[in-house]
Amino acid sequence: AAKNGGRGQFRFYAADLKNEEQERESMLDDLRIALESGQLHLEYQPVVSIKSGAVVCLEALMRWDHPERGPIAPGSFIPIAEESDLINNLGEWALRTACETAASWPKSVRIAVNVSAVQFASQGLPTIVANALAHSGLEADRLELELTESIFVGDSTETEETFAKLKGLGVRLALDDFGTGYSSLSYLRSAPFDKIKVDKSFVESCTQKDKNSAKIIAAIVGLSSALNMETTVEGVEAFDQLEVVKSHGAKLVQGFIYSPPLSDKEVLDQIDNGVFIIEPDGPSTYRPD
Ligand code: C2E
Ligand code: MG
Ligand code: MG
Ligand code: MG
Repeated sequence: AAKNGGRGQFRFYAADLKNEEQERESMLDDLRIALESGQLHLEYQPVVSIKSGAVVCLEALMRWDHPERGPIAPGSFIPIAEESDLINNLGEWALRTACETAASWPKSVRIAVNVSAVQFASQGLPTIVANALAHSGLEADRLELELTESIFVGDSTETEETFAKLKGLGVRLALDDFGTGYSSLSYLRSAPFDKIKVDKSFVESCTQKDKNSAKIIAAIVGLSSALNMETTVEGVEAFDQLEVVKSHGAKLVQGFIYSPPLSDKEVLDQIDNGVFIIEPDGPSTYRPD
């Protein structure tokens, strides 16, 4: 169930190599070394309550600093890793690292970790999650796993069993990038999601004249609230976008308007029971209170 999203995106990676397959293999080799030699780290982006300005959650996002090529975006290397077993190792590392880091944060703040569909289908996921929680001491309800609709291409009985095991551990489940895949509503009927994350593509166009993106955001917020789920709107960058998503019922926002992804040190320095203040057209400021 590998994604094709990365095809073509990594051409820049090794333009001197003859074909795509060699480029992929070269990147995969480097990525194995990266995991073993500490070239990977996580950054954490705040999810903020619009009303209070408080940080309710931080999403862990993987970063790779290649010794020769510099930073490589997860949008390039995750799809490559998903074509091999390596995604399971990367995913386990991310879960353990994120849980260990979040265990020292204020208890009001959750951690969200992206889980690949390949990892979800690999059977070992519930045990890996249980171990990450036990090892870090993080409370299960402070861990949110972000899944995408691509998990539903697999065997539906196995999918249901994995859901049951994860919910049995007490972790929260979020449906990431909602609106970009097939977005079949039958997924929402049976799957135990606690949250829907509205894809940033809707925000990009929500301030435009045709208004359909804004209405779709409103409809997703309404749908998820009717199903007792939370909604996070991703990718809010500008004040006018924040106004639109707010007026359409959104309560939680993740985007550059509040904060880019932060290092673990920046999180500890900043996110200590304070609040974000947004001024029209000004930068966001964070005020400890
Ligand atoms: P995602 O899970 O949807 O994460 C949100 C992405 O949107 C992040 O990109 C974040 O930096 C970006 N973003 C947040 N706010 C804004 C904004 O206001 N404007 C814009 N233009 N972008 C914003 P990033 O870090 O490049 O990650 C891309 C994708 O890579 C993630 O999308 C996720 O699918 C995947 N990814 C990242 N880390 C992991 C990981 O640890 N495991 C797995 N399986 N996938 C990961
Ligand atoms: Mg995500
Ligand atoms: Mg997303
Ligand atoms: Mg994504």
